[in-house]
Amino acid sequence: DRIPLKRALISVSDKTGLIDFARALSARGVELLSTGGTAKTLREAGLTVRDVADVTGFPEMMDGRVKTLHPAVHGGLLALRDSEEHMAAATSHGIGMIDLLVVNLYPFEETVAKGASYEDCIENIDIGGPAMIRAASKNHAFVTVVVDVQDYAAVLAELDANDDTTRYAFRQRQAQIAYARTAAYDAAVSNWMAGAIGEDMPRRRAFAGTLAQGLRYGENPHQAAGFYKDGSDRPGVATARQWQGKELSYNNINDTDAAFELVAEFDPAAGPAVAIIKHANPCGVARGASAIEAYRRAYDCDRTSAFGGIVALNTALDADTARAITEIFTEVVIAPEASDEAREIFAAKKNLRLLTTGGLPDAGAAGLAFRQVAGGFLVQGRDNGRILRSDLKVVTQRQPSEAELNDLLFAWTVAKHVKSNAIVYARDLATVGIGAGQMSRVDSTRIGKRKSEDMAEVLGLDQALTIGSSVASDAFFPFADGVEALAAAGAKAVIQPGGSMRDAEVIAAADRLGLAMVFTGQRHFRH
Ligand code: 5GP
Repeated sequence: DRIPLKRALISVSDKTGLIDFARALSARGVELLSTGGTAKTLREAGLTVRDVADVTGFPEMMDGRVKTLHPAVHGGLLALRDSEEHMAAATSHGIGMIDLLVVNLYPFEETVAKGASYEDCIENIDIGGPAMIRAASKNHAFVTVVVDVQDYAAVLAELDANDDTTRYAFRQRQAQIAYARTAAYDAAVSNWMAGAIGEDMPRRRAFAGTLAQGLRYGENPHQAAGFYKDGSDRPGVATARQWQGKELSYNNINDTDAAFELVAEFDPAAGPAVAIIKHANPCGVARGASAIEAYRRAYDCDRTSAFGGIVALNTALDADTARAITEIFTEVVIAPEASDEAREIFAAKKNLRLLTTGGLPDAGAAGLAFRQVAGGFLVQGRDNGRILRSDLKVVTQRQPSEAELNDLLFAWTVAKHVKSNAIVYARDLATVGIGAGQMSRVDSTRIGKRKSEDMAEVLGLDQALTIGSSVASDAFFPFADGVEALAAAGAKAVIQPGGSMRDAEVIAAADRLGLAMVFTGQRHFRH
């Protein structure tokens, strides 16, 4: 199963590490074939290279669309070396074997990410590269394929360890990686076209990402895991810069994403917003005149749960806020920016991870959300639904006050990011009780109330802050009991989608209990 490398075809867009690798191959007696730009780079470095055009008898043409698409290349990649018939065909047509293929593709994903024109993106769809990669990979019984500059060292190590040959297991692994690359590449093209067509979620889509980071483990230590990125430039955990702290874990990434997507709902022009997340649910969210005020108010929603949490800000992290955050153990802080002074304060806390994103994502942007089920996965458009004041319909005798309306919309926005059944109590643009992930809405209502009572004790207040609060429910109340439970918690105003068969009963209960209630006409299940 050991194959010596006599001839290599190198055709790369990303020329990182190219010269050193080609030199090392050349030193081992490997003959080099190359396409235009690659050959030029190698010649300039003093290496001897043969042009593919010389092998095919055709010049590169049509803006490089046709370079290597020729039997002299594909025959050399695909021929079975142990087939007399294949080898006879190769000999009679003067086709030489290619034992090593080194290709990285036109930078399609990068071209899209930098916002290039449609024509530019089209021109950056590599055709000959994937064709060669797929051919070489199919023939991994004889051919070694390399699609990633990161793998150059592994090829040289393989040659060193095996008397200048590659083993079958190595070639097979390289082929497997190569097909992952061409699959991801075509998926990127298809998804870009889906966006260009303007369809949010066409029925047929391909899904692929690129492994950006192997993770130590998954949700639990016995689960393997990796972080795949889809090439999107959306500011967030996938594109953030990490300044300090240990590597992010699977759960950290998940929670940090939840935290940042939540604060991105709040326009920084209207003042800072801070969210503290535990197990993908917020345990406190608040706006404030300053970031530190927002942080302290978010913290005061549930100080107990905030321990070991993940903090997101929609504005820059300043020194005061950084100092306040370091008063308790926090896993990760994510913000659009962090001041030098804030970074210095964090530097003393070696384990605290700090991420900056350079901006906030657009909460209203389209996108896809995935969920795995046995035998497949479910795909839906991301929940980018947003409610404006003008969408609200007051259904009770009592109208909500101006302050209540602000709190209702705030609580509603937070509820969108709380696992269902979600109940969020808010006062003065801060959560004061959150009930998450219960099978019964009434239970979520009670849990939010109880959390608030516990905090009142911690804070030395004479009553829970749910008294006089405004509250959001992510989905309608199927019965009047949920509204009765809210009234029992002291809530004064309620926001919910409406649309239950028993809306009339629910509204009658609200009227009887003196609550103001508004319908959004939109639901925010999150499971
Ligand atoms: P170079 O910089 O050597 O001129 O071009 C290298 C790039 O061309 C590589 O990314 C390779 O995948 C791509 N390539 C090689 N052959 C063909 C072909 O026949 N058609 C197209 N469109 N791209 C090719």
